Amino acid sequence: MKITRLVFSGLLLLGLALFPLLLPNPYYIHLLVVIGIYAILLFGLDIVVGYTGEISLGHAGLFGIGAYTAGIVFTTVGAPFWLALPAAIAVTAAFGAVLAMPALRVTGPYLAMVTLAFGTIVQILINEMDFLTRGPQGLQVLKPMLLEHRMTVVDFYYFTLASVLLALLVVHHTLKSYIGRSFEALRGSPVACDCMGVSVYRSKVLAFVMSAGFAGLAGGLYAFSEEYIAPSSFNFELAILFLLAVTLGGRKTRSGSVLGAAIVVLLPNLLSDIDLFRQLTVLIACLVAIGAGYAVLRTRTTLRQLTVPLVALAVFVIFAFTLEDIAEHRLSIFGLLILGVVYYLPDGIVGYLRALVKRFRPQWVPAHETIAEHGDAANVWSAPSCGAGGEPLLEASGIVMQFGGLKALNEVDLQVAAGRIHGLIGPNGSGKSTMMNVLTGIYTPTQGDISFAGQSIGGCTSSHIALRGVARTFQNVQLFGEMTAIENVMVGLTHTYELTLIDVVLRTGRYRRQEHEARVSAANLLDFVGLGDMHNEEARHLPYGKQRLLEIARALALSPSLLLLDEPAAGIPPADLPELTAMIRKIREHGIAVVLIEHHMDLVMGVCDRISVLDFGQKIAEGAAGEIQSDPRVIAAYLGGEATAQPA
Ligand code: ADP
Ligand code: MG
Repeated sequence: MKITRLVFSGLLLLGLALFPLLLPNPYYIHLLVVIGIYAILLFGLDIVVGYTGEISLGHAGLFGIGAYTAGIVFTTVGAPFWLALPAAIAVTAAFGAVLAMPALRVTGPYLAMVTLAFGTIVQILINEMDFLTRGPQGLQVLKPMLLEHRMTVVDFYYFTLASVLLALLVVHHTLKSYIGRSFEALRGSPVACDCMGVSVYRSKVLAFVMSAGFAGLAGGLYAFSEEYIAPSSFNFELAILFLLAVTLGGRKTRSGSVLGAAIVVLLPNLLSDIDLFRQLTVLIACLVAIGAGYAVLRTRTTLRQLTVPLVALAVFVIFAFTLEDIAEHRLSIFGLLILGVVYYLPDGIVGYLRALVKRFRPQWVPAHETIAEHGDAANVWSAPSCGAGGEPLLEASGIVMQFGGLKALNEVDLQVAAGRIHGLIGPNGSGKSTMMNVLTGIYTPTQGDISFAGQSIGGCTSSHIALRGVARTFQNVQLFGEMTAIENVMVGLTHTYELTLIDVVLRTGRYRRQEHEARVSAANLLDFVGLGDMHNEEARHLPYGKQRLLEIARALALSPSLLLLDEPAAGIPPADLPELTAMIRKIREHGIAVVLIEHHMDLVMGVCDRISVLDFGQKIAEGAAGEIQSDPRVIAAYLGGEATAQPA
């Protein structure tokens, strides 16, 4: 696989390098330059759209900021070319940080609105700031000098090609590293991200700044390639076009970005020639017909399931051959094509092709994601950093948590000793999960203090608390769904990396060593929770019970001193409960304190050293299993007739 890829990339590169010699047509060369520039922008846009899962309609604005910065620095200020481009990147990246501010507060459609407003404001400002931008009249930017002569279109082509390759290297290595995983984790669950010590705040700002940096580079190149920029070039339509290109090509792949760029640049050109359009239609129709034939003959697809796309295609072919003039229908055809692709290929063209490969070779995983051997047991556990067995580790006193008129927690005290299992039980709605959220910084308590390992953690952020050594699972599973099991665990290992961006981009020895160590630890943790054979399974495709186990593995990756488990047995088949019990005991054996919220009384009574009982937000009892079972208040409040469960 690796060899084919290498050969293919080499050939592609050779073709691109020879292109201006084989086809010295400035128009085609310019088209390729624009594709390259768009591809750079899409690499960046994909960070936000594909990885963090946000929508940005502000990238046309960022593109414009890059173009104008380069243009002004080069033309008005008179600085050299090699300064103009870095300036464009830096200024645009700074605006990316501005765009990150709303992204930290709102998501989804609201963020789309805000970024749309951002793009509009940028366009208006460019228009109005006459003294700097020459307003609607536009800015003339000549190509830079190269040695003695002015750069030609071909020179600029090679420069753009080099820029694309450099951008590709930077973005690909970053996104395949722990940084990319933290971006991707944001999409899956921001809360879990924070609780794995990966600060949502930092990741989001970094994602937007990086994304904007690429938009700035693309914009700068665009100014020199077009030699003229005007505010109207960076309008709303362009923002939509970029978004479509990313979805069309395929999220989370660099080839998807390049393909998307090629499509949105070339399609309008292809659509201006009726004969070319007809040939293209026939080609697509043949491909789809072959695909459909194959699907019917070899898979369980029936002809009926394919009716709609086949009829649509037939209509399209008829349409193509009855059309006299294509120019006036260009936009509607463009729209129809996009509609079809987005509807039938939600993961884009590259995503679809990958799914095909997966179907024919179910065991196929990208080469870099397999790990040969990981029998290194020393890598599984790092001993907890604080607290010897039995000493107080966590002390929460007088915790009050008020939601409007409801006191979910009322003056609750909780002490957890290092290396012990502490049960937290109580009827539904008694405030157990709320307590856990307070302890991990998700809620700030209305009153009360929390100290961990002798230091107050009241008011600390979730990621801060997590890095101090408090890990958790969630009652409603919060996995990073699109990431594989091993990647989920590796997000928990983010704290183990000590690298600079340079290490990541250049994949230095340090980087490769740390990445390998993390992968080995993650594999060992998966073995520990019994998911050893599911490394490359996407988390969302795991059965519910396994998802809970994966959450435990991910939490252990933090090397915590305290592990909070919120109903770990929910969804686990009764036959597997003894295994879970053994696992929790083993975690304690490694010196990790556990707070266990659970409804399975056998499990709780069997493993807990101490148990606290909550009812209506108040602690009504605390003690060893035996004492709790015979406490009349507990029996009345919660255990009822089940109070006879015996410790295992
Ligand atoms: P459980 O013991 O079942 O885990 P919870 O801690 O989830 O109970 O909930 C305790 C009470 O607090 C419930 O009445 C719940 O409705 C309320 N509650 C929990 N979180 C919130 C919130 N974010 N806003 C308002 N009420 C909440
Ligand atoms: Mg709960």
